[in-house]
Amino acid sequence: MNVLFITLCALQVIIGFIIGAILGCFYATIMDRINKKMSITKVFNIFKKDTCFCFNCNHILKQRDMIPIISYLKYKGKCKYCGGKIGLRNIYYEFVIGLIVMIGICVFIIY
Ligand SMILES: [Zn+2]
Repeated sequence: MNVLFITLCALQVIIGFIIGAILGCFYATIMDRINKKMSITKVFNIFKKDTCFCFNCNHILKQRDMIPIISYLKYKGKCKYCGGKIGLRNIYYEFVIGLIVMIGICVFIIY
């Protein structure tokens, strides 16, 4: 195998993890809204700015506050605005679904 092939495979795996983490974030948001008996139709409108907010302080989150895994680690599992704790479940879904998509791409590359 040459270096270019290995580099492209690694890039596909990394992009797969990122896409999976975004899907996991989306899934966690939908689950949160269902648990709080809120409408999930706003989640599907990604161009609106008020789709995601903190459940503690109701502050509308900016795009840079919603980067899967990175935002959780950056703010140490707390809301940037009120300091309210964000459950581990969100990062769990982001990480696990990221891994599932990444493994799926690895299997697709191998076979
Ligand atoms: Zn908050």
